[in-house]
Amino acid sequence: METVVGRLAPSPSGEMHLGNAFSALLAWLGARSAGGRVLLRLEDLDRPRCPAKYAYGVMEDLAWLGLDWDNDPVWQSQRDDFYAQQIQALADQGLVYPCYCSRKELHAVTEASAPHGRAPVYAGRCRDLTAAQREALEAQGRRPALRARAPERVYRLTDGLQGPFAADLAREVGDFILRRSDGLYAYQLAVVADDGAMGVNQVVRGRDLLASAPQQLWLQDALGLPHPAYYHVPLLLAPDGRRLSKREGDLSLRALGRDHRPEEIVGRLAFWAGLQPEPRPVTPQALLPRFSWDQVRREDIPAAL
Ligand code: GLU
Repeated sequence: METVVGRLAPSPSGEMHLGNAFSALLAWLGARSAGGRVLLRLEDLDRPRCPAKYAYGVMEDLAWLGLDWDNDPVWQSQRDDFYAQQIQALADQGLVYPCYCSRKELHAVTEASAPHGRAPVYAGRCRDLTAAQREALEAQGRRPALRARAPERVYRLTDGLQGPFAADLAREVGDFILRRSDGLYAYQLAVVADDGAMGVNQVVRGRDLLASAPQQLWLQDALGLPHPAYYHVPLLLAPDGRRLSKREGDLSLRALGRDHRPEEIVGRLAFWAGLQPEPRPVTPQALLPRFSWDQVRREDIPAAL
């Protein structure tokens, strides 16, 4: 059987919090329990928001929890040339076009809100510009974003936790951004290209990203990459019912680490995940022999320590 290759893919835009730790623990267990490898990728595409100090902090926090990884970490901020090549490969197939719409213009044409928390569907204003129209816009000093031409096709997957999921790309997702007008490469492109390049075949991440899976499957096809297995894990919820985020500074691992041992945190995460009947302290290693995806709960979890 093929070796499982999983990954930890934190976005280091702040201190790691319980929600990040929850996804990381499950990603680690998913790969290691199958005798697989775990790779680390720092998703610091948005350089101004992701200074290196946070990335180093995340690595310390992962190690503190007892989550290890193989190989040197991959830093997305260092891979612009690679992403440019990937966009070129898509452009060679006629799947990319420059989009000159400003934020204001985009807002003006989006009435309907998008399903599944997706970005609104792009109305297609720049899809079929002529060369002369493009030149005129460039002459005004406009710098384009690059968009993928979403096909009229339904993409389906069976998520290992959430079950069947599908999206009609042209209607529900629309032409999505591959590179922003300021030159930053987009998450959708980078995640697909990097998972492909790193040989990742098991993707474990928050349930909020399930909506991105169909366009990622399409990008994988377009770039000649295999489809990984997906497990979209539940989200931890703050007391107000919203997703736990970096705003809840008191639930950062740094803050929790002052009063708690890592085993206590892992024990609590494992309890929330459905992996043990009570929140008793445990190491990630000790969870391995009993881990199975069948035990992992699917619904979001109110997280109160
Ligand atoms: N970097 C994303 C996050 O921290 C995960 C992206 C992915 O796993 O595809 O939520």
